[in-house]
Amino acid sequence: MNAYDNALRQLEKAAKLINLDKDVLTRLSSPEKVVMASLPIRMDDGSLQVFQAYRVQYNSARGPYKGGIRFHPQVDLDEVKALAFWMAIKSAVVGIPMGGGKGGVIVDPKSLSEAELEKLSRAWVRAFREVIGPAKDIPAPDVYTTPQIMAWMADEFSKLEGKPSLGVVTGKPLEYGGSLGRGSATAMGGFYVLNQAVEKLGLKINKLKVAIQGFGNAGSIMAQLMHDAGYKVVALADSRAIIYNDKGLDIDKVIAHKEATKSLAGFKGVEEITKEKLFELEVDVLVPAALENQITKENAKDINAKFVVELANGPTTPEADEIMYKNKVIVIPDVLANAGGVTVSYFEWLQNISNNYWTEEEVDKELKERMIPSFEAIWQMAEEKETDLRTASFMVALDRIAQASKVRG
Ligand code: NAD
Repeated sequence: MNAYDNALRQLEKAAKLINLDKDVLTRLSSPEKVVMASLPIRMDDGSLQVFQAYRVQYNSARGPYKGGIRFHPQVDLDEVKALAFWMAIKSAVVGIPMGGGKGGVIVDPKSLSEAELEKLSRAWVRAFREVIGPAKDIPAPDVYTTPQIMAWMADEFSKLEGKPSLGVVTGKPLEYGGSLGRGSATAMGGFYVLNQAVEKLGLKINKLKVAIQGFGNAGSIMAQLMHDAGYKVVALADSRAIIYNDKGLDIDKVIAHKEATKSLAGFKGVEEITKEKLFELEVDVLVPAALENQITKENAKDINAKFVVELANGPTTPEADEIMYKNKVIVIPDVLANAGGVTVSYFEWLQNISNNYWTEEEVDKELKERMIPSFEAIWQMAEEKETDLRTASFMVALDRIAQASKVRG
């Protein structure tokens, strides 16, 4: 299960359905540029360690490359390529004038001290300085990268340029060019599109049970939003534990426990369950918000949820997609469900380059105004073409990328 193979299969499936121009398909079948670097870091104990780093610039037909940087031990080039490709699709799905890129470092950031993490973040910028920039390629946070890391990166880039260059990365802290609403944007976007889908089926939010895999930026904020809106969140998972209580979890208490202990393990009044059981639960909404390839041909048939909301990138394999489509599970795909993140990143970049900052209400209003019409267009396309929402999203996005490529010649 290689994420990039999965991405290319998704591309081919949608390309066939819209009869995508052959040249555009060929261009989209490989990245425009791949840059690799070894980052030598002097560790606190005096030893030297070298970390492998990547930036993939997948497609810029519609604007500068945009996409996060992942710090994770399992990062590999194919994963970064897949994530970069999905970014190009995602920007087009929500109609923002950007392309797709992604970066990564093979590292377990939890094993680094703060000083080592800062050195690594600054080294990443020095290594990729020539290819990134506010008008070229704008990174952002992803798994295990944070607003603090973005602040170090923006600072390093600004020093190298000899002028403030806040628009070089998004997802920065509020004190240093960040946007209000960026921290919650990914979950908020997913929440808006799920609510639209729930309404389409004539269901009531307060009767719906939810399981969420991943309790970081995306997953924990989604849990909070859903809980506050009346959904009953019954199961949550992080990398260390999966907790379940059919009566519903008190999300404020879970968040406090996670903040205090850095883990969901040991939370009182719950059953700890396996990953297999998590995906089989009798819930209405399943939210993968961790990593790729979690829903596969092995477990897709056991999913009882009506909706799968992909806050994670690439959590579902193409085989699993087919099984769920047959079983009438509505998958709200990553390129739509988590596109709130890149949308508010784009707003942050607009604020940085214009040096004019928006209120939280303005950010939220603009986010809603992009997410809901994007959802409606894709829902309509899926109905018209009698296909799943992922394929419909790709069809809408590929058409937009093809049009830009065509006028550019
Ligand atoms: P994060 O680092 O804040 O959190 C990741 C979470 O996943 C943590 O709770 C971690 O414990 C959990 N996790 C890791 N391995 C796991 C496993 N094997 N089983 C269960 N849980 C596991 O990262 P994030 O920003 O929340 O990103 C999560 C997903 O959302 C990724 O796929 C990312 O690409 C995607 N995403 C994030 C954003 C964003 O703005 N943060 C935007 C779009 C997409």
